[in-house]
Amino acid sequence: MRVFLSSDIEGTAGIVDWEQVRGPGPEYEIGRRLLTDEVNAAIDGAVEAGATHVLVNDAHRTMYNLRPGELHHRASYLSGRHKPLYMMEGLDATFDAVFMVAYHGSIGAERASLSHTYNPTAVWEARLNGVAVGESALNALVALHHRVPVVLITGDDATAAEAQPFMPGIEAVVVKRSITRFAAESLHPDSACDLIRAGAARALARAGTVSPPAIDLPATLEVTFLTSDMAEMATWIRGVDRAGTRVVIARDDDPLRLYRTFVTIIALTRSIVER
Ligand SMILES: [Zn+2]
Repeated sequence: MRVFLSSDIEGTAGIVDWEQVRGPGPEYEIGRRLLTDEVNAAIDGAVEAGATHVLVNDAHRTMYNLRPGELHHRASYLSGRHKPLYMMEGLDATFDAVFMVAYHGSIGAERASLSHTYNPTAVWEARLNGVAVGESALNALVALHHRVPVVLITGDDATAAEAQPFMPGIEAVVVKRSITRFAAESLHPDSACDLIRAGAARALARAGTVSPPAIDLPATLEVTFLTSDMAEMATWIRGVDRAGTRVVIARDDDPLRLYRTFVTIIALTRSIVER
């Protein structure tokens, strides 16, 4: 059995501040240590349930947050920048299940630690088939294309709630309860890892009974930006139309192509973000 694991970091137990997820600095070193333990716990659970190979795609920021030598020895590590399929690079139809580890809530979520949707300085909201979504549902477009079920997500309570409508049957392991964007009540890291290990094993054991993501095709993606300039820029991409001052829309019957359009929107608009 082959498992594809996409790792972010903001959904890790104990993490509540940008300083813990952006290097360099001592807080970031703690953050990546906590993340590595959670990723390894998910791999442990997968191996327990019969996984023969786990591909870990590091999907946060620099995309080399994990230390290769500290990663579980049964995993291969896909890291570094310029991945055409970004948070889902490496997934194909040979995989039996997708895990999303240390994911976070969308920018519009009411209470979600370090909430954002891909780019917090550009994206105000993303909607898929009319529903405001987080990164989990956007990334699920790639899983849908390859007909691979997303069986596990870990993070806070908002992350779990956002994944469920698009990934029915998903095992959601909640490791913290978000109070605000920068406050949360977390489980102790060891307890979080115990839950993730058990959840991963359960999730993989019943992967054969879980359907690929439930996203109706053709799918409609609407992105609302912080500024109208960003929306204008996004329409430079073929298939992306203006739907409002700060809103663009794309519709596609191919979920992979729609995800690629989204990734291109993110990459392009990054160039006019103010810092
Ligand atoms: Zn991230």
